[in-house]
Amino acid sequence: MQAPTVGGVQVPRGDGSTVVRMPRGASLTDFAEKIGANPASLVTVLFHLGEMATATQSLDEDTFALLGAELGYNVQVVSPEDEDRELLESFSIDLDAEEDAEEDLRARPPVVTVMGHVDHGKTKLLDAIRDTNVVAKEAGGITQHIGAYQVRTAHEGQDRAVTFIDTPGHEAFTAMRARGAQSTDIAILVVAADDGVMPQTIEALNHAQAADVPIVVAVNKVDKEGANPAKIRQQLTEYNLVAEEYGGDTMFVDISALQRTGIDQLLEAVLLTADAALDLRANPSRSARGVAIEAHLDRGRGPVATVLVQNGTLHVGDAVVAGRAYGRVRAMLDELGEPVDEAPPSRPVQVLGFTSVPGAGDKFLVTSDDRTARQIAEKREAAERNAALAKARKRVSLEDWLEKSKVDTLNLILKGDGSGSVEALEDALLKIEVGEEVGLRIIDRGVGGITENNINLAVASDAIIIGFNVRPEGKARELAEREGVDVRYYSVIYQAIEEVEAALKGMLKPEFEEAQLGTAEIREVFRSSKFGNIAGSLVRSGEIRRNARARLIRDGVVVADNLSIESLRRFKDDATEVREGFECGIGLGSFNDIKVDDVIETFEMRQKPRA
Ligand code: GDP
Repeated sequence: MQAPTVGGVQVPRGDGSTVVRMPRGASLTDFAEKIGANPASLVTVLFHLGEMATATQSLDEDTFALLGAELGYNVQVVSPEDEDRELLESFSIDLDAEEDAEEDLRARPPVVTVMGHVDHGKTKLLDAIRDTNVVAKEAGGITQHIGAYQVRTAHEGQDRAVTFIDTPGHEAFTAMRARGAQSTDIAILVVAADDGVMPQTIEALNHAQAADVPIVVAVNKVDKEGANPAKIRQQLTEYNLVAEEYGGDTMFVDISALQRTGIDQLLEAVLLTADAALDLRANPSRSARGVAIEAHLDRGRGPVATVLVQNGTLHVGDAVVAGRAYGRVRAMLDELGEPVDEAPPSRPVQVLGFTSVPGAGDKFLVTSDDRTARQIAEKREAAERNAALAKARKRVSLEDWLEKSKVDTLNLILKGDGSGSVEALEDALLKIEVGEEVGLRIIDRGVGGITENNINLAVASDAIIIGFNVRPEGKARELAEREGVDVRYYSVIYQAIEEVEAALKGMLKPEFEEAQLGTAEIREVFRSSKFGNIAGSLVRSGEIRRNARARLIRDGVVVADNLSIESLRRFKDDATEVREGFECGIGLGSFNDIKVDDVIETFEMRQKPRA
């Protein structure tokens, strides 16, 4: 159906329920293609709706919704998850349809996260478990913090493994879930017996219950005077955690992380709970899938990622992709820093060989070959870039168009050598206060070297790039130079903060004040057909300069403002300035309303230094 719409442009209209699915970061041209319209007419329609965009610019969801509502389409921007699913399907990888045959499934160790209120002993407990149960392969084997570790324990006559995520607390747990990566099978809720159930205890158990993760309660610090383990059991019944001895099905174990008592019983409880509540099996003979738990850029070894294998077995030499990072597994190390050749389900390993640093919570998968891994990563990168561009597009409304934006924003892209440093830098930067007129926006952040994509985003959104202990990769430096992108390098956080603060202050609109230059009294008016009226004047104070701004004062009242000394003559000659006590001829351009005894006052605007 064709119908005229705003602005008299012909655009095919939907009936209000016509669904149009668009990828994130799509442009008007993409949309035009879907509905069979001319991109230029969509630019016009959008303009009439008060939004300026070019045909090829990436648009955000709100803009599409606005345009869709106008034209009778229900525009649905595909969620990142669906987008990724479709992307993988295009490589014949269908994660949902992957069913392992019953006979291929083998039991796998449970993966455990330790949660609880601050200071209740989560870290101490993780240390205790690691020190006593990680099997040191060589005498003096020192465990490394790689983000996760596996321990072995005897359980009902069998040697069983348990994997621990080595980041205590529910934040990491929840952050991973938010990215669609459920990495935890069982939560250990640590509650200090001398302190009782506290706000974060409740928060942690809520998170675990929301994720359907069974809980084992570790009642810690039972060595302390005043410890009351029975009270903890009592308190937690209110939250549906009823101890077995009270007829419930939650296991409570009294421990002392400090004195390392009760640790074996706790591991036992974890395994009993896993066996009773969960069917933890995986197929070790297929290609690996899992999640990146932690990653950083190592000066000597390049990108290093700790991954948890969730299904299949990861081998040295496998082609892998994790989020936007890809590579080939060059080496794998366990929590003792020992090389391993393969990692079966539930095994955490450090992987060397990624070409860039994956994000914590990124899912990884092994692909049939290097090229597929690279292409998936590149397509994801492009999708992210489009989405980021859509977000970063300066949304210029008509009002802004007429009256240039009053708020200046400094756009920043942060890159650093570890997620900790990037977060710390971001936090500190966002705390800088320089008043209302200028703002700071961090439009992208990440771990690893500065890439061409970072530079492109900076170009698209006028951003400055901050590299914290990182440098441009490959051709990124050249590109930055060519595009004139400001890339700054720091290795000390406070230095970055100071400079950004100074930059923000510099962005404050300069304040000006008027400085008087001189005054002249009109003695005579010469009329010239060529130059208009010329004021024959005597300079009374200061000096009169050509091109200076001026106003005319008659009987003490300003009769004309916004004038300028258009011509200045001393006798017959042009002069650039005439000083106090001298006579001169002054022309005020097209302004001719001058009389004898009027005073011409000249001034200039000087920038006021900022405090
Ligand atoms: P987190 O914040 O939950 O990681 O708690 P930490 O593991 O850092 O422990 C907080 C404090 O409690 C530290 O001073 C520990 O030494 C102490 N602590 C931890 N476990 C025990 C314990 O079983 N008994 C005693 N007496 N102190 C403990």
